Amino acid sequence: MAETGFHNVVLSGKKRGGSDDADRNDYMVAKKALATMPPSWEDPVAALANSRHEFGEHGGVNMSIEASATFTVMEPETMRRMFDGELGPDRDFYIYSRHFNPTVLNLGRQMAALEGTEAAYCTASGMSAVSSVLLQLVSSGGHVVASRSLYGGTHALLTHFFPRACNITTTFVDLRDLDMVRDAIVEGRTKVLYFEAVANPTLSVANVPELCRIAHDKGAMVVVDNTFSPMVISPGRLGADVVVHSISKFISGGADIIAGAVCGPASLVNSMMDLHQGTLMLLGPTMNAKVAFELSERIPHLGLRMKEHCHRALTYATRMKKMGLKVIYPGLEDHPDHALLKALANKEYGYGGLLCLDMETEERANRLMNLLQNYSQFGFMAVSLGYHETLMSCSGSSTSSELNAEEKALAGISPGLVRMSVGYSGTLEQRWSQFEKTLTRMQDSSLFPKN
Ligand SMILES: *Cc1c(COP(=O)(O)O)cnc(C)c1O
Repeated sequence: MAETGFHNVVLSGKKRGGSDDADRNDYMVAKKALATMPPSWEDPVAALANSRHEFGEHGGVNMSIEASATFTVMEPETMRRMFDGELGPDRDFYIYSRHFNPTVLNLGRQMAALEGTEAAYCTASGMSAVSSVLLQLVSSGGHVVASRSLYGGTHALLTHFFPRACNITTTFVDLRDLDMVRDAIVEGRTKVLYFEAVANPTLSVANVPELCRIAHDKGAMVVVDNTFSPMVISPGRLGADVVVHSISKFISGGADIIAGAVCGPASLVNSMMDLHQGTLMLLGPTMNAKVAFELSERIPHLGLRMKEHCHRALTYATRMKKMGLKVIYPGLEDHPDHALLKALANKEYGYGGLLCLDMETEERANRLMNLLQNYSQFGFMAVSLGYHETLMSCSGSSTSSELNAEEKALAGISPGLVRMSVGYSGTLEQRWSQFEKTLTRMQDSSLFPKN
């Protein structure tokens, strides 16, 4: 078994060889030593600042890209020791980039700091992070308890793919009904409780600490998808064992990259890289080092971006509600999960960058989106989220179309639900006037109800 000492990878970064300029090397070692102090467990931005800063090979302020697929050794014996797991990335020994790659590992360190977990590793997509971690934790015949309100792809994976491909079954529950969650977890058989911190697309908020208590009491691990709420909520700091991300959304912010991450204990990340049993090593959803570099440059401004996404979402949601629209946003005081989110959220980031407008029918939802894009240029009709422009989609007929009518009703997805990922391009008032202009146009038609 090639278990590499991932724990040490996270905390130290001894370099091989001595060709570096001695002074700069000392400085970097000092800087890295500072980073071994315990991270701040309160605030993700503070934790990121406390994490180790990677310098470039020539002293560049940015890290170098290790673009190699394979790595050479000085002596033939080293190769055997690497494959035995005796020498690993903690001592700067790398085998092949489907296994650990230094640049991808550095992005993993940032993700671990962001989520307050011991370790993290990045993957080629959010779906591969979700599927790899579940397949690592649950074996054939195993059982998962999951929220009814999930990203459509994850829902399909659990409902259709896992039972057929590997005899893993799932019981779906209403997360707000804690007794139902407790009853669904079968001690010994249920390996994982899986949910989204802020659910797609209903924006209901999970009571992370309470759900973790229930799962842990029955010996199940808790895996939380935090794609909708990076910075806003830190499930790992609230008790979750594993946090998964689709980096394709807010963390990337550019709507140009598909990527994911698994954040959790070092032992889990190591097991996923095991040469004989690891899902990352053997299924191979590998992130390219050049992509890892690009993403690592975006994480330092994630906090700033989230604050602006959240500020605009709250402002628009408040104004939309005043206009008499049926708006769902957990930042509004009348949202059923407002108090819970306020208690769980990291301070000063806000209440999330997504809001939903319930237009009741698909026809009215489509008319609204059509005008918002093609008449007033408020945003784009597109799936996904976390982009600098506002993105809108009708969830029932797009990203949640994997759910059947009954499943949608149970998850609280109305056929006219328009999900908006609120962007920050343009001025807030410029965008708001585009929204108002569209509503005036809608009001002129019989499709808009007079309040
Ligand atoms: C998009 C998304 C995923 C899947 O991520 P990809 O990067 O598209 O593979 C998983 N969970 C949630 C909540 C998402 O929004």
